[in-house]
Amino acid sequence: QLSRCVPHRCHHCAPEKGQRLVLSKMFQPQNLREDQMPIPEGKSDSLTCKSQRLMLQVGLILPASPGCYHLLPYTVRAMEKLVRVIDQEMQAIGGQKVNLPSLCPAELWQATGRWDLMGKELLKLRDRHGKEYCLGPTHEEAVTALVASQKKLSYKQLPFLLYQVTRKFRDEPRPRFGLLRGREFYMKDMYTFDSSPEAAQHTYRLVCDAYCSLFDRLGLPFLKAQADVGSIGGMLSHEFQLPADVGEDQLAVCPSCNFSANIELLDPSQANCPTCQGPLTQTKGIEVGHTFYLGTKYSSIFNAQFTNAHGKPSLAEMGCYGLGVTRILAAAIEVFSTEDCIRWPSLLAPYQVCLLPPKKGSKETEATELTGHLYDHITEVVPQLRGEVVLDDRTHLTIGNRLKDADKLGYPFVIITGKRALEDPAHFEVWCQNTGEVVFLTQEGVMELL
Ligand code: ATP
Ligand code: MG
Ligand code: MG
Ligand code: MG
Repeated sequence: QLSRCVPHRCHHCAPEKGQRLVLSKMFQPQNLREDQMPIPEGKSDSLTCKSQRLMLQVGLILPASPGCYHLLPYTVRAMEKLVRVIDQEMQAIGGQKVNLPSLCPAELWQATGRWDLMGKELLKLRDRHGKEYCLGPTHEEAVTALVASQKKLSYKQLPFLLYQVTRKFRDEPRPRFGLLRGREFYMKDMYTFDSSPEAAQHTYRLVCDAYCSLFDRLGLPFLKAQADVGSIGGMLSHEFQLPADVGEDQLAVCPSCNFSANIELLDPSQANCPTCQGPLTQTKGIEVGHTFYLGTKYSSIFNAQFTNAHGKPSLAEMGCYGLGVTRILAAAIEVFSTEDCIRWPSLLAPYQVCLLPPKKGSKETEATELTGHLYDHITEVVPQLRGEVVLDDRTHLTIGNRLKDADKLGYPFVIITGKRALEDPAHFEVWCQNTGEVVFLTQEGVMELL
């Protein structure tokens, strides 16, 4: 299982050999009770769901202003891992990573009419010269203008699959549920440019399959639902939804053939599946991804064209594809965690292993160095685990208290140097958090398990 883990860093920039990551040095506010949590004034962001409550309790996020959060070190690690998995999936289908400015000139948005259409959700500002901008909530305009600026494109160069992972800004009327609905959040957005509708639909299927593969790898139970094309416009659209009670979308699902759609899309009198006629059920979902086949809606406005096989100019056929990066993190926590403890998709756990040495002054103190040896051994023998192991050196606390913290944070493996460390050979107590198993293993046994 761990051999599949995404290393946070390549082994070249993992910590030096012999250097141990210790908890006492980490910036990690802890043990906050709900009534002590720093909630910004205004209450528009009140504590309302499990992922938000747990993420605040263990110090994964701290509120900055309504709908805006500081992402603390563990969250940043999990997010960087998620981004690496997304990169793998996007690059496997030919995606090229770009990074467009968040400051988007008003003219581009006026050209598509969305400057007014997006209403108050668009965060607008002016520079010192009086020029107007919005803080990008999405980048169809910017990326289409970018591609249109390249005048000599040939059909032989297409398709282009351009994507980025950047902050997006939306003045949400009701920011809430922590990272699930922020006013500033990370999105992966991909924009594709093809030479024909057939090619664009092929690309559309490729990206949808990559999304399915991503959610499968994360172990997230998702639904791919037919969706409304909304203000982005276009002809074909799907939403990737995680069934969950805090979800804000209502879905119609067919348990027999897996058909699903948004409830608004169906005729209110429709009680049966349009595909197999079986009875439909309803469920709530969190929208974690959204795909659109756009046709030439944007390329015709900005004149994003290429020279076709007959030497004639032709408009690019486009698609756009969003993934809520910070939303996926919170949604995964929402789906996997218990009421009290965070559980991560194993690929995303900020650290894979936490080692607990004995309490200072306890009978087992003489076994303390075994924890250090185990640390060095694991990080030497399993290169993927370099930088993935933390040592909870707060030895003024009991093992029980530190185990409680480790349980709350959801390290996939917690390894305790306890009573049986004094045996010959020494045994470690290993908590496998994702299966709930507790086993006693020698150092060799631990290595085999990992
Ligand atoms: P919602 O219906 O939840 O408001 P949306 O349909 O407006 O989302 P899209 O424009 O489709 O969102 O954006 C692509 C993805 O970005 C969404 O599928 C979602 O995962 C993510 N996303 C959108 N709004 C937010 C937000 N306020 N906070 C966090 N993630 C968001
Ligand atoms: Mg929205
Ligand atoms: Mg939506
Ligand atoms: Mg959407």
